[in-house]
Amino acid sequence: LCFRDVRLRGQTGVPAERRGSYPFIDFRLLNNTTHSGEIGTKKKVKRLLSFQRYFHASRLLRGIIPQAPLHLLDEDYLGQARHMLSKVGMWDFDIFLFDRLTNGNSLVTLLCHLFNTHGLIHHFKLDMVTLHRFLVMVQEDYHGQNPYHNAVHAADVTQAMHCYLKEPKLASFLTPLDIMLGLLAAAAHDVDHPGVNQPFLIKTNHHLANLYQNMSVLENHHWRSTIGMLRESRLLAHLPKEMTQDIEQQLGSLILATDINRQNEFLTRLKTHLHNKDLRLEDAHDRHFMLQIALKCADICNPCRIWEMSKQWSERVCEEFYRQGDLEQKFELEISPLCNQQKDSIPSIQIGFMTYIVEPLFREWARFTGNSSLSENMLSHLAHNKAQWKSLLSKQHRRKGSTDHGGPGTEKEEQTVAEGDAP
Ligand SMILES: [Zn+2]
Repeated sequence: LCFRDVRLRGQTGVPAERRGSYPFIDFRLLNNTTHSGEIGTKKKVKRLLSFQRYFHASRLLRGIIPQAPLHLLDEDYLGQARHMLSKVGMWDFDIFLFDRLTNGNSLVTLLCHLFNTHGLIHHFKLDMVTLHRFLVMVQEDYHGQNPYHNAVHAADVTQAMHCYLKEPKLASFLTPLDIMLGLLAAAAHDVDHPGVNQPFLIKTNHHLANLYQNMSVLENHHWRSTIGMLRESRLLAHLPKEMTQDIEQQLGSLILATDINRQNEFLTRLKTHLHNKDLRLEDAHDRHFMLQIALKCADICNPCRIWEMSKQWSERVCEEFYRQGDLEQKFELEISPLCNQQKDSIPSIQIGFMTYIVEPLFREWARFTGNSSLSENMLSHLAHNKAQWKSLLSKQHRRKGSTDHGGPGTEKEEQTVAEGDAP
């Protein structure tokens, strides 16, 4: 499996309109056709209908209300999606619903909107069509068949990042470059994720594990893939060379920070800064560190969402673990921690993840934000969700106990999770 290469091979030499369902060139033609009101042959009409949502979406994202909507079917959905975008900074934003309303284009739609509202298109003189093309590349490089590490997770992390960038303790210091880096890193941080973890790539001698010498293998790949797409799309080609080099480096440092194996390193640094009260957000270096922390929080914020959404994410991530376990079993490899559907239940995985990974990070984040209302809200969801999983776990044990008379094993199970590899 060479995730990036497959994409390039698959697309080279294929006309734009056949590569996927995103007709970049055609959508400009479409615009003209619609304005002049000339819808010639049946073939043209067919093309028009199949591309309608992109036509509407592109106008919507530039803040232009469609003058004469030709296609009423999609209008309801886009109207609802547009309404949702007006509340994109709310913590209860339902990314699953937004993904359905945008017909699976949540990442592209969200990013275009955020780039616009943060004034990044204007500030960096970005070309809207190129930005759209780049974002479609990113979105399509996520694997839709992954239950968890797909473009909806990326959109969810980006939406959380947007909320964190608005935190009063941080927002006033952020430059347009910081905001662009934060949003881009969030959108691309898991791009081309294969749905298996680093230990799996190492034990199967995957060439990426070899290439990155078993160190942050996936994160390095996400970063280098992002750089590849940035260069290929020429989104930043008009900026000074030193600036694009800096952007590429900073994106790397942000994406690499999401490696969960480096959790303690970052947590210790954050605790020390907060204890010494020596964070100087006027300095680019300290702002970059807080962007790394914000991205890490955004990446693992699922347990801090409302229960209905949090639960869905938990089921998805466990499904991905179990699929890896099935694969390992099939190839007679040792089943990785948390990947054994028979032994590792969703509630026990989640309780361990919350206790050892999520709670310690979000406690410090809350301290940094001065216990902002968002932080308090997240911690309260976290406590509530953990209680929910605990109650489900004890129900499971009662059920199990009534069949095999085994006692509860919460402590032991939590320990296993702490040693395992979190999402
Ligand atoms: Zn992620």
